[in-house]
Amino acid sequence: MIEYKHEPFTDFSVEENKQAYLDALKKVESQLGADYPLIIGGERITTEDKIVSYNPAKKTEVIGSVSKASKELAEKAMQEADQAFKCWKKVKPEIRADVLFKAATIIRRRKHEFSAWLTKEAGKPWNEADADTAEAIDFLEYYGRQMLEMKDGRKVESRPNEYNRYDYIPLGIGIVISPWNFPFAIMAGTTVAAVVTGNTVLLKPASTTPVVAYKFIEVLEEAGLPKGVVNFVPGSGAEVGDYLVDHPKTRFISFTGSRDVGLRINERASKLSPGQMWIKRVIAEMGGKDTIVVDKDADLELAAQSIVKSAFGFSGQKCSACSRVVIVKDVYDQVVNRVEELTNALTIGDPSDNANFMATVIDSAAFKKISEYIEIGKTEGRLVAGGTADDSVGYFVHPTVFADVDPEARIMKEEIFGPVVAITKAETFEEAIDIANNTEYGLTGAVITNDRMHLEYAREEFHVGNLYFNRGCTGAIVGYQPFGGFNMSGTDSKAGGPDYLTLHMQAKTTSEAF
Ligand code: NAP
Repeated sequence: MIEYKHEPFTDFSVEENKQAYLDALKKVESQLGADYPLIIGGERITTEDKIVSYNPAKKTEVIGSVSKASKELAEKAMQEADQAFKCWKKVKPEIRADVLFKAATIIRRRKHEFSAWLTKEAGKPWNEADADTAEAIDFLEYYGRQMLEMKDGRKVESRPNEYNRYDYIPLGIGIVISPWNFPFAIMAGTTVAAVVTGNTVLLKPASTTPVVAYKFIEVLEEAGLPKGVVNFVPGSGAEVGDYLVDHPKTRFISFTGSRDVGLRINERASKLSPGQMWIKRVIAEMGGKDTIVVDKDADLELAAQSIVKSAFGFSGQKCSACSRVVIVKDVYDQVVNRVEELTNALTIGDPSDNANFMATVIDSAAFKKISEYIEIGKTEGRLVAGGTADDSVGYFVHPTVFADVDPEARIMKEEIFGPVVAITKAETFEEAIDIANNTEYGLTGAVITNDRMHLEYAREEFHVGNLYFNRGCTGAIVGYQPFGGFNMSGTDSKAGGPDYLTLHMQAKTTSEAF
């Protein structure tokens, strides 16, 4: 087995790669507007009621129409998953892992095609789409290997005349509910973690990005995944979400999305449904309000570059995106001025054109919410860059920077999930860390400083699940920077980390006396 290494990112300055991506975009364009069914127990089921997925950069362009699960179909999927679990849980971990490795290979061969779907369906610029696809491949390769490492359980001691074992067994039926912002990587990663550990799944992708999820299920089928192990049940979270979460056969829920929906799922999952035999397990990875702290003794160019890239990459729609900055007073003006220059130089437009650094936000609801926060920001801080938005063709919000914001201001504390960053000033480095911790979230953070003691101080005091030093706060890599947050950012499951798969299994101790 080749050692795990993350999938390299594509260099689009190489003409051949650029051409390959343009070809992939053309291929995807030729397939736009198709109909996609549900997949339940391997059966394709078409419904009258559809989710229509649109290109956020061209509002009228239909990416695809996807059949929508009703409660009855969700129930059917539950029965199929229940049946499939009886066999799948007995399939050897090696065979389960092989499905993941083959799926990774299929995706790698069609890498730009998948990324082009992300450009069209989620409005991801080329490099962002490429990173999303690479991460999906990484999850497959990494979790496959993790399962092989864990297949014989963990070592426990045995005394003379005794044989003790500690084995991991699957849980049962998992409900995987994924977000639109990493419509490939998170959807695929959460699904295959559940599958490789021997569970069966009902996958409910985000309603804004169901087509790429369908394409992924096709890959799993091609890779040899048996029918009923993953059931594709797109539908409105508000309509079928509660039904799936409440169902007595649901053994665990793997959710990634907003704080409010995560809390709702956690609460509902804690209530016993008639016939339920277990305590449901909830893996919930939720929102963020992520801070970059800039010290007075720091590389200020690095600081400004890190802020702008982390705040505006994929229009600030990453849970790890920098949405607040705390700068020690001595270097405050210099950093703010440089952030302003860099922000004003960003290129914004259709993500199909690689010349654009940034494209749109995901949909009209996001556009409205972010625009409202920009108006709030105008009353809470000094507008330094951006502040405008245009949804005539697609949902374009210009990268927006507010300076001189009070640490208690709403734009400093609430997740906006768009290209808006709020900057505040601190008297000292210690105060900067206090401000950084002053949110209910705790997902990512970064510290830019040349002071070793300050780095060590932050290592202890900056309370986030993923803390970065002298770099931006986005871009965690599977197997290198396991990802998950503290506090209201979730259950700290650390996706892409060595403990992640254990969350999808239960450990069984057996002890035999001779
Ligand atoms: P969201 O609105 O919470 O939706 C996430 C998923 O939950 C979607 O599939 C959604 O379905 C579904 N859903 C909605 N209501 C539901 C209900 N009552 N029961 C069950 N499922 C329900 O979040 P989003 O807008 O897609 O994603 C953005 C959020 O995700 C941000 O807060 C971001 O910080 C967070 N996020 C966190 C991480 C992390 O690792 N911590 C990673 C990525 C994103 P519909 O699409 O049909 O509404």
